[in-house]
Amino acid sequence: MNKTDKIISQARKEDRKALLEPEAKAICMAYGIPVTKFDVAKSERQAVKFAQEIGFPIVLKIVSQDIIHKSDAGGVLVNLKTAEEVRAGYNKILENAVKYKANARIEGVLVQEMAPQATEVIVGSIKDPQFGQTLMFGIGGIFVELLKDVTFRIAPITEQDAAEMIAGVKAYPLLNGYRGSQPADVKSIVNVLRAVSKLVMNHPEIKELDLNPVMAYEKGTKTVDARIILE
Ligand code: ADP
Ligand code: MG
Repeated sequence: MNKTDKIISQARKEDRKALLEPEAKAICMAYGIPVTKFDVAKSERQAVKFAQEIGFPIVLKIVSQDIIHKSDAGGVLVNLKTAEEVRAGYNKILENAVKYKANARIEGVLVQEMAPQATEVIVGSIKDPQFGQTLMFGIGGIFVELLKDVTFRIAPITEQDAAEMIAGVKAYPLLNGYRGSQPADVKSIVNVLRAVSKLVMNHPEIKELDLNPVMAYEKGTKTVDARIILE
């Protein structure tokens, strides 16, 4: 059994439909999608140790099968610069989780590399009852949330399809250096879309996938959040 099968069957065994962020990111890595470095801490001491290994600044996030939208639960702390901030942050995250949902099951606290700012894009997939695995692309923030500026293609997609999905959003000039915005490495975003296409074709049991956001740099990309929902 490969890495992805193992993660999915473990979730099934535990009767979980939503994979945890570290599980979804491990699957991304298996498909060659660059993600932020991470480790799951089970204690304050371990959180500090991982932070020192990964390097500051650090992002901490709640890992709980009962908390899908982490920031809604006060479950994401960014830009922690010292061991002391990580220690305090670890306790704050757990405190916030209990406030949000008293009986939330908590797997640990995700300690991860803080990715530099960039244009944030969204790569996703949904399993359409009629068309099957369908890929989605959008540029983060108001373009997706408010303006629904997204493109779709039925999987599997070619390189050409992926390039068209990216160029097809109205906000595309933002990836092209519009008014001093940082031009993005579109080829690397194409690779992420193609990798997701391969993943969801290999795994029809994936009902929804969300890489949100993916940082789009002048050179390369980095996925900072990943969510996978099983049927
Ligand atoms: P949520 O479950 O709420 O979607 P995210 O993991 O997406 O949680 O975190 C919320 C926001 O925090 C992201 O949209 C991103 O702007 C920022 N963020 C999260 N992780 C990182 C990271 N490793 N580096 C930089 N920014 C991050
Ligand atoms: Mg997110």
